[in-house]
Amino acid sequence: MAAPGKVAAFRLPPLPTVGEIIKLFRLKAQKQLSQNFLLDLRLTDKIVRQAGNLKNAHVCEVGPGPGGITRSILSAGVEELLLIEKDARFIPGLQMLSEAAPGKVRIVHGDILTYKMEKAFPKHLKKNWEDEPPNIHIIGNLPFSVSTPLIIKWLANVSKKDGPFTYGRTQMTLTFQKEVAERLIANPGGKQRCRLSVMSQHLCTVENCFVIPGEAFVPKPEVDVAVVHLTPLVQPKIEQPFELVEKVVRSVFQFRRKYCFRGIETLFPESGRLKRTEQLMMTANVDPTLRPFQLSMSQFRNLCNTYKKMCDEDPSLFVYNHREELRQKKKTKKGSLKSTNQPKQ
Ligand code: SAM
Repeated sequence: MAAPGKVAAFRLPPLPTVGEIIKLFRLKAQKQLSQNFLLDLRLTDKIVRQAGNLKNAHVCEVGPGPGGITRSILSAGVEELLLIEKDARFIPGLQMLSEAAPGKVRIVHGDILTYKMEKAFPKHLKKNWEDEPPNIHIIGNLPFSVSTPLIIKWLANVSKKDGPFTYGRTQMTLTFQKEVAERLIANPGGKQRCRLSVMSQHLCTVENCFVIPGEAFVPKPEVDVAVVHLTPLVQPKIEQPFELVEKVVRSVFQFRRKYCFRGIETLFPESGRLKRTEQLMMTANVDPTLRPFQLSMSQFRNLCNTYKKMCDEDPSLFVYNHREELRQKKKTKKGSLKSTNQPKQ
């Protein structure tokens, strides 16, 4: 786990409280945007400490909102803080914080899902992948509807060493719905083990830091929240392209409660399906009667490596899409039914 950092390394001048900022700028949380704010600075300090020592760090905070976490990041003595906020109503309050920490804050009114993170930080901060992580951190308490697609996008970026990982193994400290955090850290055999567990753990060290009860937020969300810290691994546990790993893992978990061969079958076109499924499972040394959630990381690695070899031998295999095959079949069936029902001329 990242060594917990100290917070107060920089003292902000006296400012209105986060609650007062909310009143001053009329920042009522918008329920439809899942906005839930943290007003307790002891709690935001605790979140920020999970990122480790932020002294002289370059930090990107996603979704700063009224700025509770932002204050804790600034107090940690960062060199520069980039704020990316989608909702324009928060910008004036963030500008007030920026004035309180001259030269440290850059505010972007934008969407983190499309923002070009590969250009977000100075080039000189770049580290080799094998080195210690760069002094760059991503921190955020985002709506759940954004944090899950975002982590999938960032895992693809980790695999390709692009986006925020152009700079090396940039660390992330993010909040998730507690249940999603449990999936991210779930071990083989665990109730929550799923596609997200394998995709995140094969690329990153994932630590579930602590749970924030729903009551700590204003307004209170319907679920508890957990803070998760992710550090990209020097060597991914499965050394294959992200899309290939994603395809294999998605297929395996397609029928979560059934034997794993049921999902694996869907990697192959109907003709020769059984033979190829057997070949894959035997070469990968995976018992076909295991349930998807029981498979270990090395079994997923074997499956991906073997599937890659099969795709190299038959390049049409990787583009095969089981759902598309089913859709086409349905269409043809509908078409032939229609033609048999046509009145004879
Ligand atoms: N960080 C603040 C806190 O902890 O009190 C606000 C948290 S609130 C759950 C989520 C924040 O993320 C809101 O300010 C919202 O406007 C912002 N946000 C939502 N989607 C975003 C996106 N795609 N890009 C950037 N910011 C986003």
